[in-house]
Amino acid sequence: MRTISHFVGNETLSGSSGRSGPVYDPATGRQTAEVDLASPAEVDRAVAAAHEAFRSWRGASLAHRTALLFRYRELLHAHREELARLITAEHGKVHADALGEVARGLEIVELACSIPTLLKGELSTQVSNGVDVASIRQPLGVVAGVTPFNFPAMVPLWMFPVAIACGNTFVLKPSEKDPSASLLLAALARDAGFPPGVLNVVQGDRPAVERLLAHPDVAAVSFVGSTPVARAVQRGAWEHGKRVQALGGAKNHMLVLPDADLDVAADNAINAAYGSAGERCMAVSVVVAVGEATGDALVARLARRAKGLRIGPGDDPSSEMGPLITAEHRARVAAYVPAAREQGAEVVVDGTGLVVPGHEGGFFLGVSLLDRVTPEMDAYRDEIFGPVLCVARVASYDEALALINGSRWGNGTAVFTRDGGAARRFQLEVEAGMVGVNVPIPVPVGYHSFGGWKESLFGDHHVYGPEGVRFYTRGKVITSRWPDPATAEGGINLGFPSNH
Ligand code: NAD
Repeated sequence: MRTISHFVGNETLSGSSGRSGPVYDPATGRQTAEVDLASPAEVDRAVAAAHEAFRSWRGASLAHRTALLFRYRELLHAHREELARLITAEHGKVHADALGEVARGLEIVELACSIPTLLKGELSTQVSNGVDVASIRQPLGVVAGVTPFNFPAMVPLWMFPVAIACGNTFVLKPSEKDPSASLLLAALARDAGFPPGVLNVVQGDRPAVERLLAHPDVAAVSFVGSTPVARAVQRGAWEHGKRVQALGGAKNHMLVLPDADLDVAADNAINAAYGSAGERCMAVSVVVAVGEATGDALVARLARRAKGLRIGPGDDPSSEMGPLITAEHRARVAAYVPAAREQGAEVVVDGTGLVVPGHEGGFFLGVSLLDRVTPEMDAYRDEIFGPVLCVARVASYDEALALINGSRWGNGTAVFTRDGGAARRFQLEVEAGMVGVNVPIPVPVGYHSFGGWKESLFGDHHVYGPEGVRFYTRGKVITSRWPDPATAEGGINLGFPSNH
């Protein structure tokens, strides 16, 4: 059985903890590898390598860092098919979706290539006689990144390119469920010329994360994953005096107003709900239909489309949706469908009985559509993270807004309408970090920042874009006096320095 290990100081580091976990091909259900799970001592080795590398990397010129990032961008682009195949093999998502993930990750590397512009400071000259003031931003040191299973390449790429471009060094702890993509990302960084220790990967689970949170040489932690763990990571980082951004789960609502083009709305809802088998933090999980007529017409359209989706292995080009990540997760997601029926929802499409011929052992689950879902039902209250789309019916825009703003999460949301005024009102009134207007998955481009509100993000900074640069740097203000030699004044003055 293949063993997946750590990557420290630009070299593979075999695990020595004696602990490992299984990695599956979700399309067959067969185990394909063992992943080493790091002990605290192995985490310490990675942090030590990063700490050592920081001593010189922090001083590497912007020209040099940029040159390496450009080379990295080219290497990633050249290896995007290979990366996508690795993602499909361990996550299960269809190849086109995996390629899309890589493309969105590449955007952040492209952003990082513009680091000389992003890191420009500010200068005020002659604030007083012969006195100038400069504001600069400096790297933090060793930064840790902890990432979820659902985007094994894109989410790490949200973090380390920006962190490294800012002059930090990085220790990545990817999901133990699909750990291979991170190793290819790190190997390509080595091939691009990044010095040993600048980007390290430790495989592992909770003990590895807890050591990263406690390690005195880790300056900051970026986390993306579920809400309970995000909350715990924020607390752990704070306890140890670290800067932290911890992105959590979501329940994203798509509001459909009566004037919307319902065919367009239905197409978009299907894509955003069932793409990547619903295992996206920006997936649409609740469609909110305003008015019974809108609800009836929309549900009919959604049902027709949902029944026609082609579900199969991710490496089959005809598949539109792949399997879920594990057998346990499939069982958990499937259980929401009968529970919703018992709690009073209408199960319009029930995908729980799906079998994919030739792939009976795979973790496949058909798509389900639940109508007349209400806030007290489990299917509404929980983040399901699978191919189950809920439809909630409301009588008015105000009722819709109250429902959406009553959610404990605030990651993404969308409105579908032809009415610009209604859309404008929604974008100002809704409590969510990312809003789409006739755009179902409003993941910001690389030069804006990504992040939700409420229980979808713990911390003050969103990831990548300008906020990513701020998160991975700290400010310093330098006040200097270089008197003109021709007019230099001297003398003693014990008064508080004032500007004149
Ligand atoms: P998860 O929280 O189970 O795991 C995320 C990471 O934390 C993994 O690296 C895992 O090894 C580690 N981890 C797990 N339990 C831990 C613990 N008790 N202590 C310390 N570390 C622990 O999440 P997941 O199942 O891998 O990913 C799915 C979740 O991620 C969903 O809730 C989804 O909404 C969320 N997500 C959010 C965003 C966002 O941008 N807000 C993006 C992607 C995924």
